[in-house]
Amino acid sequence: MRPRIAVTGTAMETKYGTGTYIDKAYIDGVIHGGGIPVLLPLTDTKDIDDTWISQYDGLLLSGGEDVDSLSYQQNPHPKQGRISPDRDLLEFAIISYALNQKMPLLGICRGIQVLNVACGGTLYQDIYSQVPGVMKHSQNAPRSYGTHIIKINPSSRLFTIYNHQKQIPVNSYHHQAIDRLADGLKVTATTDDGIIEAVEGTGNHFILGVQWHPEGMWKDYPEQLQLFKAFVDACKGL
Ligand code: MN
Repeated sequence: MRPRIAVTGTAMETKYGTGTYIDKAYIDGVIHGGGIPVLLPLTDTKDIDDTWISQYDGLLLSGGEDVDSLSYQQNPHPKQGRISPDRDLLEFAIISYALNQKMPLLGICRGIQVLNVACGGTLYQDIYSQVPGVMKHSQNAPRSYGTHIIKINPSSRLFTIYNHQKQIPVNSYHHQAIDRLADGLKVTATTDDGIIEAVEGTGNHFILGVQWHPEGMWKDYPEQLQLFKAFVDACKGL
């Protein structure tokens, strides 16, 4: 039985109106990982309760907009990008449920960031303005190509998933990153400039966030699909 994975999407305005967009690469990652993805639509509704997420077996937080800095008590930096209050509201509600119910959770790009904020941490609103000596994290290269190296902590779930490799190249499409790490999370990969590239929960519950885009890499780097497989296995209760 394939577990059902709730996937969040990005607010998108089209010529037909406003809707919720999800890149097919996330969908294919979940399917090839062994799960069935279901997109959670964005809505103006403020009344989001547990039934929005309770029928699913796991939660995938996809990439997208910047998280509203007010959600971590900071006024917006001039380089803040597009934000989506609807998306923040939805994701904070369902992350809270997933954490309370020990539902497996995978966060990608914005996903690692919103996870950290939901757990009480903060973000750099723009690493290029706020982190001295930062390297290029907004690549101009094919999406499948890894442009910077991450170093993986050997005592992590990530290390096992990526075949005990201490460092791997990953792609990079972010101008924000985790600043103050939230309680309940631990850093499991970084770049040489000190940017946090992966976190995990400190307990046994599968909570994993990555700052890169594995869904854009797995067709060329099979090990990146193992992340989706490990997540889906956790959703099966394995
Ligand atoms: Mn990066």
